[in-house]
Amino acid sequence: MDKLKVNETIQEVRTNLALELEMAKDEGRKVVGCMCSYFPREMVWAADAISVGLCGTTEEPIAAAEEVLPADQCPMVKATYGRSISGTCPIFPLADCIVGETTCDGRKKMYELLAREKPMHIMELPQKPEDKEALVHWTAEVKKLKGFLEEQLGVEITDDKLRQAIKEVNEERRLLVEIHRCRMEHPVPVMGVDLVGLTTKFGYTVDREPYREKLRDLLAELKRRIRDKEFACSPDRPRILWTGLGNSLGCDKVLKLVEDCGGVVVCQEGCGGITRIEDMVDEEKDPIEAIAERYLRVTCSCMTPNTTRFNDIDRLIKEYRIQGVIDLTWQFCHTFNIESYRVGELVKEKHDLPFLHVVTDFSQSDAGQLRVRVEGFLEQIAQVN
Ligand code: SF4
Ligand code: SF4
Repeated sequence: MDKLKVNETIQEVRTNLALELEMAKDEGRKVVGCMCSYFPREMVWAADAISVGLCGTTEEPIAAAEEVLPADQCPMVKATYGRSISGTCPIFPLADCIVGETTCDGRKKMYELLAREKPMHIMELPQKPEDKEALVHWTAEVKKLKGFLEEQLGVEITDDKLRQAIKEVNEERRLLVEIHRCRMEHPVPVMGVDLVGLTTKFGYTVDREPYREKLRDLLAELKRRIRDKEFACSPDRPRILWTGLGNSLGCDKVLKLVEDCGGVVVCQEGCGGITRIEDMVDEEKDPIEAIAERYLRVTCSCMTPNTTRFNDIDRLIKEYRIQGVIDLTWQFCHTFNIESYRVGELVKEKHDLPFLHVVTDFSQSDAGQLRVRVEGFLEQIAQVN
């Protein structure tokens, strides 16, 4: 069996995690549900609790959500809410409390309903990260989060515990960065869809050291494959940069399609990708300030201007020798949808590369049409090269 393939579905991965969580809870540990890359998970680990992602990434819970939410909401908002109210998510009932952030409007308003299900804390996220007041405000929000968690979990989150958690999560980031950077090789040692599956699966974890051990094993295997010239695909496959959304196990239908049609995704920007792990929390500073600084640098399209995201995409195109860029937006996600125009400008005008913007949801209803578009995009790359 290929060590780099994930054969479980996301539902199976979540069910396995739920069993581990139940055992951990029997031993007195607490569980905090989180929703977004702005959530400073070091705070949870510093409280000796467990942080689990509760974002919806599959179609099944959407019907239940649409009984309450309008249908014209992004599938991520609907699936996240649906997971919580439909009884389809094995993890949600185990969360002792939930933390959300004011990123997009859909999430923010959905959280008001979600708050009926569990104790919930909302962090108010500034939307102009380059203003100096933004950091002052966000630092205060991180402090408020600390207070909420201490009260909910019945513990004190000390600076020493925070420093330790920062070190450990940074170590995980360093390992993940090295793993992702193995794909600078040509051809790559792992397909994009397999790496997404592995990193999603490993991320559903109760204990940190076994998680780091899995990352170390994966890194060693990738390095071995590079050394032994055991590549994941032929050198003819065009090297694709993935930007925007849709690169996690469960909501990877377009990513799969791209690799089925003959491309290879060698780098992902954004949530689930390299730009969410390259940035470390400063280990020398006051831990709360360092956490606030680091998390305010997340480059979600809810920010304006979102300058760093464009600098990142520009850099990644060069670092990973990219031949084409695919930008994915979930239906009804206004911020990523509008920002895609500028991503396209950067890719086409500055780098003279083919660019494909896909707007879709979690269903398979547009699979045929998407295949035609992806094939056309790969054909365009073949003509340029
Ligand atoms: S895309 Fe934005 S709102 Fe969605 S998880 Fe990432 S940071 Fe959060
Ligand atoms: S995809 Fe867009 S609309 Fe959906 S939750 Fe993320 S930021 Fe909000």
